[in-house]
Amino acid sequence: MSGLLVVVSGPSGAGKSTVLKALIDSLPRGKFSVSMTTRAPRAGEINGQAYHFVTESQFVEMREAGGFLECARVFESAWYGTPKNHVLDDLSAGFDIILDIDVQGALQVRHSHPDAVFVFLAPPSMEELRRRLENRHTETPASLARRLETAAQEMERRGEYQYLVVNANDRAEETVDKLRAILVAEKCRTSRLECCLPMSL
Ligand code: 5GP
Repeated sequence: MSGLLVVVSGPSGAGKSTVLKALIDSLPRGKFSVSMTTRAPRAGEINGQAYHFVTESQFVEMREAGGFLECARVFESAWYGTPKNHVLDDLSAGFDIILDIDVQGALQVRHSHPDAVFVFLAPPSMEELRRRLENRHTETPASLARRLETAAQEMERRGEYQYLVVNANDRAEETVDKLRAILVAEKCRTSRLECCLPMSL
């Protein structure tokens, strides 16, 4: 049986990276799709782990070769994209693949992979989101303002997702449990199991 394609979106600062890492570590066959981006690495980000950091022309080349499952310009400043081949190969090999992508990318995946699972991960409030982003000390005042503005727009589109999970402060474990529960339930859908059931039970 092929794996689940799980799309997780939510404002930058919702805590996606932390909970998704914990989720993947807890899955027997889970993998994170490492995106390509033209944004500069932040302190401590290792090429090939957080992202594949590339130049704009490398990104365009990949896009023109049809190498992305989806891609989008986020915060009007940088390109982000999901390399296609690894994801498709890993799904066929039975791995559950987790994509951390923005709402524009999620919409593209919904068209190409309607059987994917769509989860919106939200912060408890916009005030809390601002506090988390400020505490990261990675943003300039201008980029902080842009991220908050994008966050508000993304929050408005949460209704387009199948699941909404709020990542409350100090409750990362509970958030991971909820995500795991979603995956377990999705794997029990008759539509996904039909192919693998014996004719008579
Ligand atoms: P950051 O710069 O904070 O790492 O990520 C900014 C935003 O880009 C996040 O909302 C993240 O979900 C989104 N993002 C990361 N990788 C991809 C990708 O491959 N495609 C799309 N569409 N968005 C991505």
